[in-house]
Amino acid sequence: MSPYKSILLCSGLVLTAQASVLQFTNPTTCCSLLDSKFPGESKVFSSTALEYEALTFYWTPTAQVLPRCVFTPYNTNDVKKAVKLFARRNCQFAVRGGGHSYNPGWAGIKKGVLISLGNMNHTTYNAGTGLATVDGGSRWTDVYGDLLPYNITVLGGRNSDLGVGGYLTGGGISFYANKEGWAADNIEGVEIVLGNGTVINASKTQHSDLLRSVKGGSNNFGIITKFRLATVNATGLFNGWYMRYPFASTDSYLAAAESYCNGGVDTDTRSHIIFSASIVGMGNMTNVALMAYDGALDPSNPPSVLGPFFDGTVANPTFQWFAPNGTIKSATDGLRDAQGSGNRYTMTTLSIRVELSLLKKLRKAWLEMTTTDLRVIPGFLVQFAFQPVGATWIAASAAKGGNSMGITEPLAVMWIQLRWDNQSDDAQLLQYSRRLIRRFEKIASRAGKLASFRYLNYGDRFHKDDIIPSYGSESVTRLQSAKELYDPDNVFGRLVPGGFKIPGY
Ligand SMILES: Cc1cc2nc3c(=O)[nH]c(=O)nc-3n(C[C@H](O)[C@H](O)[C@H](O)COP(=O)(O)OP(=O)(O)OC[C@H]3O[C@@H](n4cnc5c(N)ncnc54)[C@H](O)[C@@H]3O)c2cc1C
Repeated sequence: MSPYKSILLCSGLVLTAQASVLQFTNPTTCCSLLDSKFPGESKVFSSTALEYEALTFYWTPTAQVLPRCVFTPYNTNDVKKAVKLFARRNCQFAVRGGGHSYNPGWAGIKKGVLISLGNMNHTTYNAGTGLATVDGGSRWTDVYGDLLPYNITVLGGRNSDLGVGGYLTGGGISFYANKEGWAADNIEGVEIVLGNGTVINASKTQHSDLLRSVKGGSNNFGIITKFRLATVNATGLFNGWYMRYPFASTDSYLAAAESYCNGGVDTDTRSHIIFSASIVGMGNMTNVALMAYDGALDPSNPPSVLGPFFDGTVANPTFQWFAPNGTIKSATDGLRDAQGSGNRYTMTTLSIRVELSLLKKLRKAWLEMTTTDLRVIPGFLVQFAFQPVGATWIAASAAKGGNSMGITEPLAVMWIQLRWDNQSDDAQLLQYSRRLIRRFEKIASRAGKLASFRYLNYGDRFHKDDIIPSYGSESVTRLQSAKELYDPDNVFGRLVPGGFKIPGY
């Protein structure tokens, strides 16, 4: 007998909350009701179930919160039944794709019901339309693997372990971004379960306002059960390179980075670079260029835009390739393996308009603020990274119908990522990340180079209410109108406590 059966038998006594009352139904009752919707189907797991531990594992344990039960739908109809029930009974819930958000409660919920989409993970390709249809709970490694036999791929995670749902609804920076725009720009349509349980297909011709809204609008509109994605050719070689440069090379490194950000990137859109610097414990700071190239790459004769990072212009490079001359799958699997799960992490972000003197000031502040008392914390690593969103990227977004993110001028997305070992150090390191980003804001603002945009997928919990407003008032107004139309009862604001919300919801 289901563990929830007996609870359900007496649920009449506890089922008091109605949609109109601002009181949530007891999560145990919600779990029981849900279980009763799927008799004999083993789709609802309580904390005593063997499956529970795996279902509540997150890429970083900093994100972990424990739900009362986990619901594992297999198809759109399952999702629809659950959402209908939650809306009717005022049950709080969360939606989890690949579980890579750094923030506790974004793809998890304390005590409520977690909908984990991992069983919805099929990919198909229609050669006639040139579109791939990808289930909302898929991970990129499977998507790439399923599509490569057709010599095509889609814009997806640079780390192949990411889930498609969170990544695409947050925007999605892929290795093809400089040529093709945000990964979200390449969504041609979605099948989405709305807050009232209705399933609709949004495309560029039907409910186009909803389609545009989910491109950066996160989980505010519904649960996306299928993405229809434009594909790109993947017949040639794909390269992922990882190069290190010592502290002494910082000036030449930053000069080359500035030049790439301010124009170089647009001259060869097959290239892609993430610029970062890391400090691990008490070790020396190192500079890194994580480069990808959609084509062959011979390090002794690289594409000219990547030349400075190979030919000694940025002095003393150390080669550390992660996927030379392979495929998009091998490059992104390589990064997945390099960025293994299990450590405590946080991430915070802002955007700037790139200027060399500003990059130097930010680096200086970062080094000053990364003091010894932090560096001795077990497992300490801090990474300071940025990458350009150039003119060709922005033009590609516009040509494909636009998105919610409101970027009209080139900028660089900048982020700080912190890693450490022990929960007891959470407070100190979260505070450090907050102080650091505030100092960066001040410095960039004083230089007149602070951009308003904050990238949702790199956003932290302290900016819960700042991310969507950072898209600008025009985007916010559009998102609010879509919210009014497609989630008028605010199911995904009211009943889903985690995530970045639309102002007023
Ligand atoms: C190691 C690592 C590497 C990364 N690399 C990149 C990168 O290269 N480019 C990039 O842009 N970002 C990157 N990110 C950030 C990543 O895009 C976000 O963490 C994103 O949220 C991951 O999606 P997910 O489905 O795995 O996340 P989850 O944590 O499962 O979900 C994140 C949010 O999306 C919502 N959601 C998930 N699925 C759906 C769905 N089907 N319908 C509606 N809402 C849904 C959830 O409710 C949650 O609020 C990286 C993160 C990590 C940890």
